[in-house]
Amino acid sequence: MAKRKGPGQRAVFSSAMHDSAKNFMRTAAALRRALERDELVVHYQPMVELRTGTIRGAEALVRWNHPTRGLIAPQEFIPIAEDTGIIVPLGRFVLRRACEQFHALKARTTNGKPFTMSVNLAGAQLGRPNFVNEVEQILAETGVPAGSLKLEITETAAMQNPEAAIEMLERLRKLGVTIAIDDFGTGYSSLSQLHRFPIDTLKIDRSFVSRMASGNDNIEIVRTVVTLGHVLGLNIIAEGVEAAEQISMLDDLQCEYGQGYFFSQPVPFEKFGR
Ligand code: C2E
Ligand code: MG
Ligand code: MG
Ligand code: MG
Repeated sequence: MAKRKGPGQRAVFSSAMHDSAKNFMRTAAALRRALERDELVVHYQPMVELRTGTIRGAEALVRWNHPTRGLIAPQEFIPIAEDTGIIVPLGRFVLRRACEQFHALKARTTNGKPFTMSVNLAGAQLGRPNFVNEVEQILAETGVPAGSLKLEITETAAMQNPEAAIEMLERLRKLGVTIAIDDFGTGYSSLSQLHRFPIDTLKIDRSFVSRMASGNDNIEIVRTVVTLGHVLGLNIIAEGVEAAEQISMLDDLQCEYGQGYFFSQPVPFEKFGR
């Protein structure tokens, strides 16, 4: 398009803005209806102990089963849910569904051994005073032991309001729930901040894991994160494990757990562990 200045161009610009605002509102309204109509589904990806190859848990990952568009990935609607506050009821739905399905998923995979259900948490959920009570109630109603629930929060979300996050995470941990930092290495938290957070697990972001090769920087970053995590008494989960060579590298680095397409993509409840 010609670089025309003047009122004409301003009109084009503002109508584009108008369109995207309209789109946003439309998607937000559709997402609200989707929650009411039970169109959101939770898929599960196994979390695997690398040394033995056994399933030790699952991560709950939401999808939108749209009546005409089919399955929509969370990147397309989680940001809108966060901006509109829909993330609060949405997050509650995912937590409840994951806890309801916990017992069946565990029974199918672990032969009575412990099984951890991981659920992602948005920053907005951490800011709600009632959140701990909601978690407590859902655990009580579904019979999931608090120690079997892990809540994942990204560094970025935790750092939005570190003092409030620390307080909330401490209250959650008092219930017995464990806490993971998700996508570790991609946010802007400094390593010196990390020890202030009451956490149990670091999930190394898949960008480091997928680019690991002997002698390169990524393997050294993973090595450093594993060492740091162990010094702080944390479990380490490698995200995005896609190849057998990565498993042996991670095992050499003493990383205990992994998740990734090598083991399984996230799958519907019916398919997990079968
Ligand atoms: P996340 O929590 O870091 O989840 C891991 C993402 O990596 C998932 O994408 C998973 O399908 C993908 N993944 C797992 N293994 C591999 C692999 O080997 N290779 C590749 N290329 N990708 C892999 P998904 O399901 O599309 O979710 C994307 C993000 O959406 C999640 O990242 C999480 O931040 C957010 N999300 C999903 N469900 C929820 C939810 O219930 N609540 C909130 N607040 N956020 C959610
Ligand atoms: Mg996660
Ligand atoms: Mg992640
Ligand atoms: Mg992520």
